[in-house]
Amino acid sequence: MLALYGNGIGYGIAIGTARVMQQPDHDIPSYDIDPENIEQEVKRLKQAIRNAARRLAAIDAQLPAAGVSEIRGILNAHLLMLDDPMLSQEPASIIRERGINAEAALQRHADHLERIFGEINDPYLSSKSVDVVQVINRIQDALMDEQDDFGASPEGESAEGVIEEEIIVAHDLTPGDTIELNKHHIRGFVTNLGSPISHTAILAKSLKIPAIVGLHGGIRYLRTGDQLILDGKRGVVLADPDEATLEAYRTRREKILRRSQELEALVKETATTLDGVEVALNSNIELPEEALESESLNAAGIGLYRTEFLYMNRAEIPDEEEQYQKYSQVLSHTTRPVTFRTLDIGGDKPVEGISVNNLITNPALGRRAIRLCLHDLASFKPQLRAIYRAAVHGRVKLLVPMLSNMDELDQLFLLLHEVREELRSQGFDYNPDVPVGGMIEVPAAAVAADLFADKLDFLAIGTNDLIQYTLAIDRVDDEVNYLYDPLHPSILRLIKTTINAGKAARIPVSMCGEMAGNVHYTRVLLGIGLRDFSMDPSAILEVKRQTRLTDITKIQPLVERLLKTADQKQAKRLIDQINA
Ligand code: PEP
Ligand code: MG
Repeated sequence: MLALYGNGIGYGIAIGTARVMQQPDHDIPSYDIDPENIEQEVKRLKQAIRNAARRLAAIDAQLPAAGVSEIRGILNAHLLMLDDPMLSQEPASIIRERGINAEAALQRHADHLERIFGEINDPYLSSKSVDVVQVINRIQDALMDEQDDFGASPEGESAEGVIEEEIIVAHDLTPGDTIELNKHHIRGFVTNLGSPISHTAILAKSLKIPAIVGLHGGIRYLRTGDQLILDGKRGVVLADPDEATLEAYRTRREKILRRSQELEALVKETATTLDGVEVALNSNIELPEEALESESLNAAGIGLYRTEFLYMNRAEIPDEEEQYQKYSQVLSHTTRPVTFRTLDIGGDKPVEGISVNNLITNPALGRRAIRLCLHDLASFKPQLRAIYRAAVHGRVKLLVPMLSNMDELDQLFLLLHEVREELRSQGFDYNPDVPVGGMIEVPAAAVAADLFADKLDFLAIGTNDLIQYTLAIDRVDDEVNYLYDPLHPSILRLIKTTINAGKAARIPVSMCGEMAGNVHYTRVLLGIGLRDFSMDPSAILEVKRQTRLTDITKIQPLVERLLKTADQKQAKRLIDQINA
């Protein structure tokens, strides 16, 4: 049995069979081929392309008939590329000319294409490189699977191509990949890269896929077909476990299931503290369907709808009409307020069709979110129009990500005015009374929260980015993940400053970063004055349970001390007392 450690994404335990995808470049085997075997190697390449196409077609056949048109579009585009005889031509010449193996030849070809795409100025054409890379990765997977003797009929895949109980092992996954994986009933995933607050990890949590990210190269020890246990809570991957370990984990999985059944009893209860303070617990969602789950959990509303996920895994961005339909669909699932966060693209969330500069060194500090939107009105305006139009079907709030200065707000208000006027003059049915809020997730906005509060209808604290920017730790870089500390006094003070600014301006302040959904922090946040939480729906009942067991007046003096503590050991003692 082999144990590998990384960062667990705390949704339970997965037991399944490994499927290794997307090897990092340095793991691509490279060797010489004897001249008499060259044609055999070319045949091997062509067979791998056919296998990749066959596997894609099997995935396509498995997709539900409705609701996945974006994914089907991508699969079909990839199938067309795999069917094109041109695809094998260049790598086949490289095999023949250089006498090297198919994987190495394919990689040389991929590097060449990447250079060409990098030089193209047209944003649409250069965005196509994502598809090319994905198709080449699929062929590499097919070549590797064949090496492991899983090429023709991979274990875990039935004759009809139905994949069962698989755990994906990959160097890295984008949020887009993660959505696609979930559609195929994947049990979990393991990656070399990634930290617990990367968007990929957040999505895994909301799709209820246990995951271990940040294995630091550890995936090289895993092979397709290995039996794996993922322990999302402890952040450990066990490969080829013995029977006793398997049994112990099956028992733990049952226990987790029973605990979540016990929590079900709290669905109808209110989130009221022991000293009678009412707290609102809202959901964060990425996909329209998740609004249903939020309803079934009796959440106060949807505190964060990350609309950018509608833009992922597709060749073209959705137009106003499609957005209007999707937003109306979310509203049709609930009578409670829904906070539509406007596009937060860039950073670790690139999408095709909207140009972001991939060459900059710090994309998180670059043209992301509202910065990108104000720069690309052709993409932003249809979204704003769709939100105002959908707002006739429910209780809509509009939330703007990554505000950092007042000019952005002034430009936004002008734009909103223009959009409303256009809708009015064009005779559209729309609701002009949509409250506008700002995310407080850049330290500059938190320090000056009072100034933002004066202009906005509500504030939402995004701790994922606030922590990243305040402590200068890239949220996707697992090497600095050990510095990620929501209890750092600077973070607690910025949260308090923001809550106080909201109180003074008499506007609501919520929190929708991952910190809001972690029961370890619930009491501290209540002690600082937070009354409105938004989190992954899977965390709502745990946080409700903790809220109902909290007496705010009792913990407040300890929280005050925590805000003044620089010593981590003392902070840990205080937090233990607060949570006792
Ligand atoms: C945050 O930054 O805390 C947040 C909620 O936004 P996102 O995670 O989508 O960046
Ligand atoms: Mg954010």
